[in-house]
Amino acid sequence: MLTIDGSFGEGGGQILRTTLGLSLITQTPVRITSIRKGRARPGLLRQHLTAVQAAAQVGRAEVTGAALGSQELEFRPTAIAPGEHAFRVGSAGSTTLVLQTVLPALLRAGAPSTLTLEGGTHNPMAPPFDFLDLAYLPLVRRMGPDVRATLVSPGFYPAGGGRVRVTVTPAPALAPLELLSRGEIVSQRAVATVSNLPGSVATREIDAAAAVLGWAPACFAPRVLSGGHGPGNVLTIVVESERVTEVFTGFGVKGVRAESVARKAAEEARDYLEAGVPVGEHLADQLLLPIALAGRGAIRTVRPSSHTTTHLRLLGELLGIRASVEQISERAWHVEIGR
Ligand code: AMP
Repeated sequence: MLTIDGSFGEGGGQILRTTLGLSLITQTPVRITSIRKGRARPGLLRQHLTAVQAAAQVGRAEVTGAALGSQELEFRPTAIAPGEHAFRVGSAGSTTLVLQTVLPALLRAGAPSTLTLEGGTHNPMAPPFDFLDLAYLPLVRRMGPDVRATLVSPGFYPAGGGRVRVTVTPAPALAPLELLSRGEIVSQRAVATVSNLPGSVATREIDAAAAVLGWAPACFAPRVLSGGHGPGNVLTIVVESERVTEVFTGFGVKGVRAESVARKAAEEARDYLEAGVPVGEHLADQLLLPIALAGRGAIRTVRPSSHTTTHLRLLGELLGIRASVEQISERAWHVEIGR
């Protein structure tokens, strides 16, 4: 049995998710130790436990150690079972991260799948639905499989209670992805969404983001939702270019001023625009897995995060892929993956 130390590098949930995802694909039993040791609350939180249960369902796996707080897990898959699956995170835990655990295996499964995921759709420290829909999945589609996601209802942190439907039409193999330039910018916009909060939160965020980005007023819009569970607020900044769409998100958190939420997201978008690369920080670490499954590919991106460097090391250990990371200008890096 392969043993993966969950505490190395980033020491977070990504090591768990990728290890489970690749255990499914390679049908290799794994033991993961020191799970999320790098985090303030180590071990499996609700969202990670749901990811384990989702992987167990798709992989008809035998699992030991699948309990809240557990820091060690053994996972033995016996199959890949595409089809109809429903996963409930049961709290505001991220639905998109649960999806990313099972998606790699379903991309190359023998039949299509339809997934229903319930929980958070817009969580801090996780890919929000808009990022999945506009940035990540179009690139996965470019590699062959047809994956579509629908936001049935939003679930904002901390209340959650959202629902996402995903359909997966697999491809027998993934085509390599080379994303070295983004092309001309086609459109740019920022939408400040509030749910069960005053509309003034949205307008304050728009003012703060506009001051950083300097875009025309028509690029900004407030969106007031009602009827959701609990309060929620996100600022979603979308930069659509010829060859890639990037999404930057500010998550409203109680006790943090709307202006500072907006400024941080806007600065991330501005840095991406100034770097002139196609791939931003979060998209970079998340694209590595599908590229590794394709066997080779390359991206140009902003300074690699510790999620990216940890992920590259893990993919090397699990799939034997080789990667090189080279700084090519003050703000741009070239990441090359090959066997
Ligand atoms: P971990 O911290 O190990 O659970 O991994 C979190 C994952 O969520 C990483 O793949 C991050 O790139 C991703 N992520 C965090 N924040 C965002 C964001 N604002 N947009 C897109 N992805 C994100």
